[in-house]
Amino acid sequence: MKYIDEKKIERLLDPGTKSSGLSVDDVISKSLSLKRLSLEETACLLNSRKDEDVRKILEAASLLKSRIYGSRVVIFAPLYINNACVNNCLYCAFRKDNTLVHRRRLKQSEIADDTLALLKSGHKRVLVVASESGAKSSVETDYYIEAIKTIYAQEQGSSRVRRININCAPINEGDFKRLKASGIGTYQLFQETYHEETYRKVHLSGPKSDPDNRIDAIDRAFRAGIDDVGIGALFGLYDYKFETLALLSHVEHLEKTFNVGPHTISVPRMEPALGVDFDKTVPYKVSDDDFKKLVAILRLSVPYTGIILSTRETPEMRDELFRLGISQISAASRTAPGGYSDDDSGSDDAQFFLSDHRSLDEVISSLIDRGAIPSFCTACYRRERTGEAFMKLAKPGTIKGKCGMNALITLKEYLSDFASEEVKKKGYLLIEKLKEDLSDEEKQNLEKFFANIDRGLRDENV
Ligand code: SAM
Ligand code: SF4
Repeated sequence: MKYIDEKKIERLLDPGTKSSGLSVDDVISKSLSLKRLSLEETACLLNSRKDEDVRKILEAASLLKSRIYGSRVVIFAPLYINNACVNNCLYCAFRKDNTLVHRRRLKQSEIADDTLALLKSGHKRVLVVASESGAKSSVETDYYIEAIKTIYAQEQGSSRVRRININCAPINEGDFKRLKASGIGTYQLFQETYHEETYRKVHLSGPKSDPDNRIDAIDRAFRAGIDDVGIGALFGLYDYKFETLALLSHVEHLEKTFNVGPHTISVPRMEPALGVDFDKTVPYKVSDDDFKKLVAILRLSVPYTGIILSTRETPEMRDELFRLGISQISAASRTAPGGYSDDDSGSDDAQFFLSDHRSLDEVISSLIDRGAIPSFCTACYRRERTGEAFMKLAKPGTIKGKCGMNALITLKEYLSDFASEEVKKKGYLLIEKLKEDLSDEEKQNLEKFFANIDRGLRDENV
C-alpha cells in the first residue's frame, strides 16, 4: 500500500529484532516535552510488556492529555444520510450483498427533520456520514452539498448547527474543492486496515477495494484545500500494533508532503452488525486492556492530534479512554439514516450496534461528574484556525487558554437552553469551580460572555 512500509513496521514489532536501545522512560520523557514520536520510539512503547511500563505509559498519556487539552471534551453527533452501498466491506451492515438491511437515501426534508431533532437535544456539531451509492463523483458530491446546505439552514430557537464534518467515500479533487466551499470542517476517511493483504480480503468489490485510491484520497483532499482531515483504522481487522505504526506512517507522509498532519485520528473498534459474521471478520479482536494501551500510545505519539471515540464503546470504557487521551466523542448517536426523527428506523437499517445508549444530557451529566468540560465549541473553524494555522497555535500551548474559555461559554449555553434541572445544578457548580483557576482578566472576560448569554446572545467566542 502506498506510503506504508509494511516490512519496516513488521521489523520494528518483531521481538527477534535487535533492541533499538530506547527505553520506555526516555520515550515518555520526549513525549512529555510535547514532541511527536518517531516510528521507532512508538514501537518501543507498543512492544513494552512489563506491567510497570504499561502503567507508566497510561499515566504519562493522562498527564499529556490534561496538559494539552485540559479537561475539555468536544461533543458531536453523526448524521447518516443514506445506507445503500456499492461496496462490499465484509464488516459493514450497509455492504451491497447484505439483503437484511432496509435501504434508505434521505430526502432533504428528512435530513432537515433529523437535524432539528439533534438541535432540540442540544447538539451543535454534526458529522455527516454517507455510504457510497455508486453514482459519479460529481453527482455524489451534489447530494452531499445539498445535505450540508439543508443542515446549516435549520434553526431550533436560537440554535443552529455550527460545524459540519463529513465522513464519505473518496471523490475527485475538483469535487473536494466544491465540498470545502460548502462549509465543511474536517473531511474524515478511515483506511480501515493499512495491512494490504487484509485490506484486499475484507473489501471484496466496488471502488473501495482499491487501497491506494483510498489512501490517496486524503492527499487529494489536502490538495483541494481541505486542511483539516481525519484518518483512522478499524480495530479488529489486523494486529493493533501494526495499525498504530501504520497510522503514524500515514501522519509522517502527510507532514512531509503538506507540512501538517491530520487534525484527528479516529479509533473505531469493530462492533457486531446485522448480517455480519462477527467472529470471522474480526480475527484480531482488541481486548479492553490493549485498547486502553493503544489509545494512550497514540496520545503520546501524536500529542497535538485530536483523537475521536464513538458510541461503539461502553460508557465505562469511554470514561476511561477519555482520561487517557480522547479529545472528541460522539454522544446519543444513531447509525441509521433518519434515526433521530423517524421512530420506524431501527436496527434493520443501522450500520452496526452501539454500546452507549445514553441521552446527550446523561453523557454530559457523567462528564461533569468526572470534572470534564463538555464542549460544543467551533471557534477555530469559524476564525480560520485550521490546518497549519491551528498547529502553530496548538504547539506553543496558546490554544489551550482559548479552548478552555470557549468550552465554558458553550457549556453555559447548553445549561441555559437544554439541560435538565439536575445537570444545570452540577454544571453551574463545575463552572464556578473552574473559574477559580482563571486570571482576573479572564474572569472578567468570561462574565461578559455569560451576561450576553443571559441576554439571549448565542455563538460568541474568542
Ligand atoms: N462509506 C464510507 C466509507 O466506508 O468510508 C463512509 C462511512 S462508513 C459508514 C464509516 C465507518 O464506519 C467506516 O469507515 C468503518 O470504519 C466503520 N464501520 C463499518 N462497519 C463497522 C462495524 N461493524 N463496527 C464498527 N465500525 C464500523
Ligand atoms: Fe459501504 Fe462504507 Fe459500509 Fe463499506 S464501510 S459497505 S463503503 S458504508
